[in-house]
Amino acid sequence: MTGETLTEIYQLLFERFGPQYWWPGEIRFEIITGAILTQNTNWANVEKAIANLKVADLLTEEKLYNIDISQLAELIRPAGYYNIKAKRLKNFINWLFENYDGGLANLEGANTEQLRGELLSVKGIGRETADSILLYAFERPVFVVDAYTARVAFRHGLIEPEADYEQLRELFQSNLPQDTKLFNEYHALLVKAGKEICRPKARCDNCPLEKVPHMLDTEYM
Ligand code: SF4
Repeated sequence: MTGETLTEIYQLLFERFGPQYWWPGEIRFEIITGAILTQNTNWANVEKAIANLKVADLLTEEKLYNIDISQLAELIRPAGYYNIKAKRLKNFINWLFENYDGGLANLEGANTEQLRGELLSVKGIGRETADSILLYAFERPVFVVDAYTARVAFRHGLIEPEADYEQLRELFQSNLPQDTKLFNEYHALLVKAGKEICRPKARCDNCPLEKVPHMLDTEYM
């Protein structure tokens, strides 16, 4: 039943919004950099930071490994919290060099749970960032959860409001086929719906999910 509802939600969102073409990065390292920089900021600001790295010809694992952290912070300034984010990027890159010889390709052999655990052990990489890296950079069937996901799931009675990240992830992962493309598109569609329609004040009358049973608690989140 839950699986049917989740599938129906996906289909209705896809019919309305179409493919979202995530993740908007050209290479794996760029996707990872974007996933780390996008915390607490909008994507347009991340794009400016990534553009700075590209113009400076620094968007490679090795070049960012060797760059001084203050120079890195200056280049990613448009992404906001640039000192913290420079540290997080450096943490990830240092981890990559210390454990995998600096090569992202060396991570391919790791199974998904092992890789998730290792990513989460890097200071500054939280669950959403780790899962975004797994899904969008390594094409692993991992569902990415965020506030938009929680809002839609709760409003449609699929989960309790106090559900945590892992419970939400489990809701989607265990009730849908383990399909990377599906998880990729589904997350992007939930973000689209959350930004445009299922906002803190819900706009149910203009929503493709209007006919899917939902609560009237429009002030939630
Ligand atoms: S806007 Fe209303 S119908 Fe649409 S997802 Fe949110 S709660 Fe559901």
